[in-house]
Amino acid sequence: MDCLFCKILAGDIPSAKVYENEWVYAFRDINPQAPVHVLVIPKEHIASADAISAENSAVVARIFEAIPVIAKQEGLANGYRVLTNCGEDGCQSVKHLHFHILGGKKLSEQMG
Ligand code: AMP
Ligand code: ZN
Repeated sequence: MDCLFCKILAGDIPSAKVYENEWVYAFRDINPQAPVHVLVIPKEHIASADAISAENSAVVARIFEAIPVIAKQEGLANGYRVLTNCGEDGCQSVKHLHFHILGGKKLSEQMG
């Protein structure tokens, strides 16, 4: 499959690993938008938030269990933002579900 993040998971494209378990992989965004900018992805290919269903949503729980662990590891005790871009209007550029963890500074109140 021609998916950038599946290639990262396969080790075909290098990434700066931050966290990994059986279901989840996290790595540094190549173009950070904040002092800490980590991407958390399922090892299973899911195209976007719009493709989450009862059949595959267990891994989403695994991702959200990993997020506080990663935040602690990254020193984000003062808070952080978790977001996922979905589809054309959401400006999703990589079609493999990913959650951005942004922090390390006071973030903009603007989200749209
Ligand atoms: P989105 O625009 O929400 O689909 O987010 C995709 C993110 O992937 C962007 O923030 C990119 O900077 C990031 N990205 C693209 N290629 C790589 C890569 N090879 N390694 C790490 N992050 C990447
Ligand atoms: Zn993929």
